[in-house]
Amino acid sequence: MNKIISGNHIVKSFGQGDERHNVLSGVTVEIKEGEFVAVMGPSGSGKSTLMFALSGMDSVDSGNVLFDGMNLSTVGEKELSDIRRTKMGFVFQQPTMLKNLNILDNIILPSMRDNRKNVAKISEKARALMNRVGIERLENRDITKVSGGQLQRAGICRALMNNPKIIFGDEPTGALNSKSAQEIMDIFSEVNADGTAIMIVTHDAKVAARTERIMFMRDGKIVSELKLPKFVGADIDGRVEEITAKMREIGI
Ligand code: ADP
Ligand code: MG
Repeated sequence: MNKIISGNHIVKSFGQGDERHNVLSGVTVEIKEGEFVAVMGPSGSGKSTLMFALSGMDSVDSGNVLFDGMNLSTVGEKELSDIRRTKMGFVFQQPTMLKNLNILDNIILPSMRDNRKNVAKISEKARALMNRVGIERLENRDITKVSGGQLQRAGICRALMNNPKIIFGDEPTGALNSKSAQEIMDIFSEVNADGTAIMIVTHDAKVAARTERIMFMRDGKIVSELKLPKFVGADIDGRVEEITAKMREIGI
C-alpha cells in the first residue's frame, strides 16, 4: 500500500540556550494509506510534538515530512493550510467548540469557510455523519448540554466533514470513561474500515489494542513497535496483554 505520511529523521527542539533540548531526536516514521496506528509513551516523550510535526501544525528543525507525496517543510503557508483542511481531520481530548453555536453549527462551521453557498448540502452531510455516530437527535442542542462522549462524537463528525485521508487523534478518549472510550473506538474502527488512516496518541492499552500497529516513544525517539492483526471484535484482553507485556519489556 502507498504511504500517506513519511517522516524522515525529524528533529525538533524547544527552549533557549542551555535549556534547549531535543523533543524529537531523529524520528523516522511511515504511515500507510488506510492504516490504523497508535502512539504510546510516557508524558513528555514527544507524542504530541510528533503528531504536530506529521500534520504540519508545527515546523521541524531538520528532517522532513512527506504527506501524500508533498514535502510539508517546503509548501507555502496557504497550501499547507489547504492540505490540513482538505486532507486531514483532527480530534483532541476535548473538542474546541463555540459555546454560542449548537452542535450542528459547530460541526459545519469549518466547511462553511470553503463553501458558504452550500449550507443545505453541508448540513445534509453533517446530519448523515451525526446519524452514523448516534447523535442525530442532538443537532440543535447547546454544546454545554451534552455528555463528554456525545461532544467527542460531534468532534469526530467535524473531523470527517471533508473526507480526510487521515485522522489525527491526540488522546481522543483521554477525557472519557472506559465504556465511552470503547464506543469512540468503535466509531474510529468503522471510519478506518472505510479506508481512512487513523493515528491516535493514547495512554490506554485498551484503546491502543484496537489499532494494528503501536509505536512506543521514549525521550523523543520511537524505541519499539508492535504489530497486531486488524481488530475484528475479538480477544481484546489478549491484545491488551501483549501491549502491556511489550511496555514492561521496554520499560515504559
Ligand atoms: P507528550 O505528548 O508525549 O506528553 P509533548 O510532545 O507534548 O509530550 O512534549 C514533549 C516535551 O516537549 C515536553 O518536555 C514538553 O515540555 C516540551 N514541549 C512541547 N511543546 C513545547 C513548546 N511549545 N515549547 C516548549 N517546550 C515544549
Ligand atoms: Mg501529549
